[in-house]
Amino acid sequence: MQFSNVIGQQALKQRLIQSVATNRVSHAQLFLGPEGSGKLALALAYAQYINCKNRSERDSCGVCSSCIKYSKLSHPDLHFIFPTTTNKKVKKDPESVLFLDEWRHFAIEKEAYFTANQWYDYLGVENKQGTIYARDANEIIRKLQFKAFEADYKITIIWMVEKINPTAANKLLKLLEEPPDKTIFILIAEEQEQILPTVRSRAYLVKIPKITDKDMLQALTEKFQCREADVRDAMLMAQGNWIDALSLYENTEEEKYYYQTFQQWMRLCFKVAMIELADFSANIATIGREKQKAFLQYGLQLFRNGMLFNNQIGQLVRLPGDEYDFHAKFAAFVHGGNVLQMVKLMEDSILHIERNANPSILFMDTSLKMVKLLKMKG
Ligand SMILES: [Zn+2]
Repeated sequence: MQFSNVIGQQALKQRLIQSVATNRVSHAQLFLGPEGSGKLALALAYAQYINCKNRSERDSCGVCSSCIKYSKLSHPDLHFIFPTTTNKKVKKDPESVLFLDEWRHFAIEKEAYFTANQWYDYLGVENKQGTIYARDANEIIRKLQFKAFEADYKITIIWMVEKINPTAANKLLKLLEEPPDKTIFILIAEEQEQILPTVRSRAYLVKIPKITDKDMLQALTEKFQCREADVRDAMLMAQGNWIDALSLYENTEEEKYYYQTFQQWMRLCFKVAMIELADFSANIATIGREKQKAFLQYGLQLFRNGMLFNNQIGQLVRLPGDEYDFHAKFAAFVHGGNVLQMVKLMEDSILHIERNANPSILFMDTSLKMVKLLKMKG
């Protein structure tokens, strides 16, 4: 991870770089900031920068032997502690070292932006919450006894330090207070009040702000190669949280897909375009059962809105401009004589999908029934 991969946070990056240039890197630092602000990304970029063999005034080089190992999170002098719990693989005595492969894989896949719950989901721990255990503390104490393998600094990142249990904290206190030579701890947390005071007081506080709207907009347009107008809604709703911005953007994209595809489907049904409907059914058969169900759910929303428009309460319909127009126009085909059958048709189709019906046959059959329902007079 280089600083250039961290979203926004320009002033903070500059401060961290400055601390290295002036040789004022605190041996224990607490990166405290809200979800989705980039704490882990910054910690990784900072750690990589500190140990880069060829760093510039702006960033690590990204290509030296240290940077390469850092980019895989596999440098022998880079250590991680994070909350864990039992899952299918580790049935008792969980600790970070048993999940290192998963940790590296997930952090790289998510580019260091993820929540604790996403991490737990990835581990498949069901409803359990993670903890940092005394076993984790013992392991790090053991590792830090040795000299650095190849880096200038041994760096330990403790992610979600709120989750440390008191026994583990007690074991770590002495290390935080008087760490071995050339050893740095970066603690990462979101909730200041939930960190044990003994831990909190031993680390130099680095406050990480939310990502600014301007930085968010720029990062989203670059990531998705689109116009500012396309990502503005996600940016506004995410309020400086990059993790939220990503999922909001992806959700609106999915919504848009259902809207456009449903609109196309209804046009084909209305025109009774049999060959195209056969193609359509074959295509929709490939998107997967969950999406097929969500697609049919979209129909339920469309029919409901049709009734609202027909009863002069269309103001209850909240949709973006052209999607609103589609729902308003479609209302002309929905009436008391067919709406219940349309609803039943969607609900039955959802049920058939859940029971593993062949999707292309099912959608062809549903299309033919829809053709008839659209022709019914109110
Ligand atoms: Zn480098």
